[in-house]
Amino acid sequence: MSDCIFCGIAARDIHGRIVHETEHSLAFLDVNPLAPGHTLVVPKDHYARLDDLPDELSADLFRTVDELVPRVEDAVDADATNVGINNGPAAGQEVEHVHVHIVPRFEDDGGNPIHAVAGERPDLSDDEMDDIEATLSDL
Ligand code: AMP
Ligand code: ZN
Repeated sequence: MSDCIFCGIAARDIHGRIVHETEHSLAFLDVNPLAPGHTLVVPKDHYARLDDLPDELSADLFRTVDELVPRVEDAVDADATNVGINNGPAAGQEVEHVHVHIVPRFEDDGGNPIHAVAGERPDLSDDEMDDIEATLSDL
């Protein structure tokens, strides 16, 4: 897509600190990092959300993430990583081109687990949990 920043980086029209690429995926440093080594992994082609991605590109994307996580941790001597996707604007997605965040974490860095991203926790009854379980498992 012509006005998409990540398509521009994939096309080399916009500068990116590219650290790895495969046939379908590209990894580059986040320009405004949450931690040293904060890396984004994207499909080279434009898809807004995870469920838009064809299976082959999704497999390549997650394989690339899996390969990169230990390399990112080694590169910045991190103790751990948070790996996540803001999948849609309501979840905080600002760049509407699928991207996986790899955020290095360090002992006592003052950050939070991924549980901290959601709003107030719902107080769900067993019946409500049963309904969700049934709806999901019928898919
Ligand atoms: P999200 O809120 O999940 O859409 O995150 C978008 C991420 O893209 C943010 O962490 C930004 O810092 C990052 N970002 C925006 N523009 C660029 C760019 N030109 N190069 C690298 N990362 C970028
Ligand atoms: Zn794009």
